[in-house]
Amino acid sequence: LNLVGNAIKFTEQGSVKLALINERDTLGERLEFVIEDTGIGIDPQAQRKIFDVFTQADGSMSRRHGGSGLGLAISRQLTELMGGELSLESEPGIGSTFRVRLHLPFAEAPESLNHADQPTETPRLSPKAAGTSPRVLLVEDNPVNQTVAVAMLEEIGVLVEVANNGAEALSAIENSAFDLVFMDCQMPEMDGFEATQRIRALSDPDKRQIPVVAMTANALKGDREYCLSVGMSDYLTKPFSLEQLYEMVARWLPVDPSTPSQSTAEHSPDAAVSRH
Ligand code: ADP
Repeated sequence: LNLVGNAIKFTEQGSVKLALINERDTLGERLEFVIEDTGIGIDPQAQRKIFDVFTQADGSMSRRHGGSGLGLAISRQLTELMGGELSLESEPGIGSTFRVRLHLPFAEAPESLNHADQPTETPRLSPKAAGTSPRVLLVEDNPVNQTVAVAMLEEIGVLVEVANNGAEALSAIENSAFDLVFMDCQMPEMDGFEATQRIRALSDPDKRQIPVVAMTANALKGDREYCLSVGMSDYLTKPFSLEQLYEMVARWLPVDPSTPSQSTAEHSPDAAVSRH
């Protein structure tokens, strides 16, 4: 994170690349993280001192960006504590490449080799449910969180649309039909709480009752209750795993007609809101 963060911080044009190279032998795994940027670069004199604590290569640049001059020193020490090495090649005006090399022995070699090769199974909606193409609206302002959540939802097997804030979510819901909404809470323009209250006040009963699952990093006691009190149907704490997301999707999507004996009332959002 420190190295990628620096690369982004000191690159105004061009690109930042992160590559992970790994090789296995019977004893363990060799990992090399390569972080390559086309930024301002670091002159040879500064390169010698840059891993010392409280050192910044260029006063003017770091004043603009803030920073403590501790990141690289800590990164190198952590890498060395893991028996690895952190190295740098850089040319001023061309860019920098940082490499973290680690050799991580397996806890139980060599059986763990076979074990690690087995693919883990991703939970997916049953083909029948997926065939009806459930539509999920993801309301989230952070582009990184958007990308991750969209990838996870697609993996699960639903159609995803993205709204960047509560106001966009409202107009998406008014103009289109969704089966389920994942709603971030803190967002610019209109937050998730207000958006949910407005959804619950819509005149169209189908739209008014859409299940809305809060996605929030707040894990404080009382947050869940607050989300439910403004009309949200359920609550998912960030960060969440694929399994947790799947469980939420499976809980709130319309019942697969082949599933026996779940009464409609039990599955209507209103009934379930009060259950939680
Ligand atoms: P800081 O928190 O100040 O960024 P670091 O130890 O992470 O501290 O970095 C120290 C200095 O090294 C930075 O202030 C910057 O001058 C230089 N530096 C680090 N990474 C890069 C990079 N990718 N390109 C150019 N300069 C860098």
